[in-house]
Amino acid sequence: MSNNSHARGNDTRRADKVLIIYSGGTIGMIAGDHGLEPSRGFEAQLCAALEHLAAERLDTLPAFDMTETHAPIDSSAANPADWQMLAGMVAAYHADYAGIVILHGTDTLAWTASSLSYQLSGIDLPIILTGAMTPLAHQGSDALENVEAALRFAACRQLREVAICFAGKLMRGSRTRKCHTTAHDAFDSPNFSVIGDIVDYQPRLTSAACQMTRQRSPDFELANYRGMHPSSVIRVVLWPGFDAALLRQWLTNDHVRGVLLEIWGGGNMPDDPQLTDVLANASQAGVLIAAISQCPQGEISMGTYAASQGLTTADVLSGGDMTPEAAMTKLFHLLAQPIGDKERRRLFLTSLVGER
Ligand code: ASP
Repeated sequence: MSNNSHARGNDTRRADKVLIIYSGGTIGMIAGDHGLEPSRGFEAQLCAALEHLAAERLDTLPAFDMTETHAPIDSSAANPADWQMLAGMVAAYHADYAGIVILHGTDTLAWTASSLSYQLSGIDLPIILTGAMTPLAHQGSDALENVEAALRFAACRQLREVAICFAGKLMRGSRTRKCHTTAHDAFDSPNFSVIGDIVDYQPRLTSAACQMTRQRSPDFELANYRGMHPSSVIRVVLWPGFDAALLRQWLTNDHVRGVLLEIWGGGNMPDDPQLTDVLANASQAGVLIAAISQCPQGEISMGTYAASQGLTTADVLSGGDMTPEAAMTKLFHLLAQPIGDKERRRLFLTSLVGER
């Protein structure tokens, strides 16, 4: 790990410093033979770019140390073992820093942020994830602004949660989704207000962010994700004409221990006895099944329409207004815990880190 003295000189106490963990993504990519690819050694690039910040911005930036994961990746290759590895790094370093910034690819940033929220439950400092839509080295890149903003939020003592900082907005990690393929303002928090923004290069937190100041002391739930099959939880998005027999094939696969069903509107699925049977049999066999809506906004409430009766019969859990990323990583996380089915079901329905 190297020590960066750009911001405040060498007398900065360690606990005033921020740690940056670089894990890959477009932010640090370089052109390869087949397109952009992850590269190592992002720190030198970042330090050179910071030299171009206006003096008043550079002078007020928190001092930071920087490290990187063993093998920076394109986040489209991330899996639960990577979530576990990042949580382990935060757990190892958190006592020495005021906050931690994780630089990550944008494609699965929301998944990692959701998973870290559960694994780092009770975190007592800011864990800020960010990335960029264009590599730092490219003209007009959003990378430097995102890193600058993330560093400023990571130094906010009132902030005690996992959050995503992107395009000047701070969003709760377990509430955020990537919503645009190319725009710099690519992330949104569809069912929860943003928890902060940047005004005149300074971080501003909303009262929703400060709710987490009542957080407990760290009570990390570092589960052994590597001990689970990466597809222990599957995601099934219904379509008109959906065939229950296909679902049966998936649900009877030995790896499958949890299912996230994405159903219609306010909480409906086809009124099909075969589908209800498939779900009920899986539930009885111990598969944890939850449902959320395919609508990007709003929550589901099962029981409003007769067409949702099968969900209740099959003991399907309501995912409320959770994002697919938050619901799926929560199922995975709960299944990795050494707890019983009843407790898992109770915890799924409880807001653990502000995710619902
Ligand atoms: N494919 C890249 C990644 O997720 C996209 C990005 O970082 O924007 O790593």
